[in-house]
Amino acid sequence: MVFCAAFGCSNRLKKGNGISFFKFPKNPVQRSTWEHYCRRSSFTATNHHTLCSVHFSMDMFQYHSSKFESLGLNFSRRAKLKDDALPDIPLMEKENTATRCSK
Ligand SMILES: [Zn+2]
Repeated sequence: MVFCAAFGCSNRLKKGNGISFFKFPKNPVQRSTWEHYCRRSSFTATNHHTLCSVHFSMDMFQYHSSKFESLGLNFSRRAKLKDDALPDIPLMEKENTATRCSK
């Protein structure tokens, strides 16, 4: 099962929902920025971890189907991030922290 490593994000790989998943980059500087973005304490990404496409602005993509759909084209190629892409959409804050200690 492919899912997203970002804190509070419950997106999973599912056909037709338009969300793509990206493996963490090999570049150590870029990789640590991705890890930091996930906001998980002492989180180290492995090759199994991925971030989903909702965390990247359109500028970070080389290809994105919605870019082509907005032009009226049917573009079925998978979304592809730029080589130096960084997640730049702020993570949602958890609003309800009252139940934090209940378990
Ligand atoms: Zn996500």
